[in-house]
Amino acid sequence: MKDTYDVIIVGSGLGGLVSANLLAKEGLRVCLLEKNQQFGGNLQTFSRDKVIFDTGVHYIGGLAQGQNLYRYFSYLGIMNALKLHPMDPEGFDIVTFNDDPQDYPYAQGYEAFSNTLLKQFPQESQAITTYIKTLKWVCSNFPLYNLEPKEAGYNMEVFQMGAKSFIDSLTENETLRAVLAGTNILYAGTAQTPFYVHALSVNSYIESAYRCVNGGSQITKLLLKKLKEHGGEAYKRHEVTSFTVSNGQVTSVLLKNGKELKGNLFISNIEPKQTLTMVGEEHLRKAYRNRIKNTDNSIASFSVFIVLKPGTFPYLNKNYYHWKDYKSPWEALDYTQENWPLGYMASMGIEKDQGIYGETLTGLTYMRFEEVEPWANTFNTVAEKNERGQTYEEFKQAKTERFLNVLEQKFPNLRNCIKSVYASTPLSNRDYIGSYRGSMYGYTKNHENPLKSILSPKTKIPNLYLTGQSLNMHGILGVTIGAVNTCSEILGREYLLTKILDSENALIDS
Ligand SMILES: Cc1cc2nc3c(=O)[nH]c(=O)nc-3n(C[C@H](O)[C@H](O)[C@H](O)COP(=O)(O)OP(=O)(O)OC[C@H]3O[C@@H](n4cnc5c(N)ncnc54)[C@H](O)[C@@H]3O)c2cc1C
Repeated sequence: MKDTYDVIIVGSGLGGLVSANLLAKEGLRVCLLEKNQQFGGNLQTFSRDKVIFDTGVHYIGGLAQGQNLYRYFSYLGIMNALKLHPMDPEGFDIVTFNDDPQDYPYAQGYEAFSNTLLKQFPQESQAITTYIKTLKWVCSNFPLYNLEPKEAGYNMEVFQMGAKSFIDSLTENETLRAVLAGTNILYAGTAQTPFYVHALSVNSYIESAYRCVNGGSQITKLLLKKLKEHGGEAYKRHEVTSFTVSNGQVTSVLLKNGKELKGNLFISNIEPKQTLTMVGEEHLRKAYRNRIKNTDNSIASFSVFIVLKPGTFPYLNKNYYHWKDYKSPWEALDYTQENWPLGYMASMGIEKDQGIYGETLTGLTYMRFEEVEPWANTFNTVAEKNERGQTYEEFKQAKTERFLNVLEQKFPNLRNCIKSVYASTPLSNRDYIGSYRGSMYGYTKNHENPLKSILSPKTKIPNLYLTGQSLNMHGILGVTIGAVNTCSEILGREYLLTKILDSENALIDS
């Protein structure tokens, strides 16, 4: 490790990894610092009983040839090496409800998506057509989503459209409304969520949906390999404790191990509220501090990670989004102790040479941080092992049982197929990722006040930038685009986009 770098990046989540690569590719001397034992943040995998689980990547959209993430990952040089498995074209996501025996599949490709919905809702042709047309139009308003070099404008018509209000306006049919909102665990949707958040997520999966074979950590490994090829450096178990500010510029970062690293530019890939504390509030204007402090974080989650007995539970090449009733997709965050969980996503891991039976099933649902408040002052990760105590274990056990009961309503034979079950709570996410109160997806967006929650990658300190899921959008696609946006501030948007487009043309020519 050197003492000085051109760019120091704090946090090796996807935003940090992509930014590190984009800048190292330009010949800048980049150093990426990660506090954990594993790089990747939410891209991390872990294993139990010799099988692999993903923590934060169940499926990825936009990865078919020519689509947006495919093009960005190609520029980063990782696309060809990714081990992906296409999900069921006739239904990669299935929306279901208690007391409704029907499966409502989302098919891949707009024609199939539309035809499948029309088969189930033959009277709703206009609603379905308007939904698709609007979805595509909204996505066309985001230049980097479409790899266009022009600056993003803020078309208020787009930013002020609410997801729920727009979907509700399409039809009086309660079932169709619920089906169109039915995958909104993808973005923790509430009545305040803007429609663009829905559109940018759902569109990418309708275009194509893939699972990562043996987990999403392959993205991390490939990006690290590329970073090293470009001369960049990355260090895990190197926690940054503060940024040093002198004469209005960041001059160095201090590490927990006592080391100081100097740099010219700094990018923080960690939660912006945490970044404020590490910079020292006195170095930032009050209005800026308050804006970040007062931005709400999305809700946290509770997951069950089920190891299946061999040969018992068929591999399902699709996700299930299951809800208590048609109102639940927008109300599931406001659960009570009695009715939790009101909905969940169930997804399976895929291994190389996947056979008929699956090895793992993960269930993901909402959980507010207040539920784990009694243990909020404990900290536990693999690198820093600590017990949270017996009462926490009992809490986890009780919630796991509750969740399994609800999963069993959809998958009646599930309990007989379980070899072992593990669970994660908002505390796991907080301790591993550093997310504020275990928040799943960073900052929430609000169509009633859309610009309030959109943070610029530039901070009020000229050589300190932000990246990661709290900025533009969360998700593998959203964070990758966010990193391109951050690096555009450093390299110039037109310059960077032209390079990406030129590299595509060079490939076509060869
Ligand atoms: C349960 C769950 C399921 C998801 N499923 C999907 C999915 O199926 N598809 C999809 O596209 N997206 C999914 N996502 C979202 C996606 O995983 C995230 O949006 C994305 O990975 C976040 O990237 P990030 O750059 O913000 O970094 P993060 O993942 O937030 O990582 C930040 C990194 O910074 C490190 N760090 C923090 N503090 C310090 C410090 N002081 N010093 C050094 N390092 C530090 C952390 O350890 C961490 O490695 C899911 C998210 C969750 C929570």
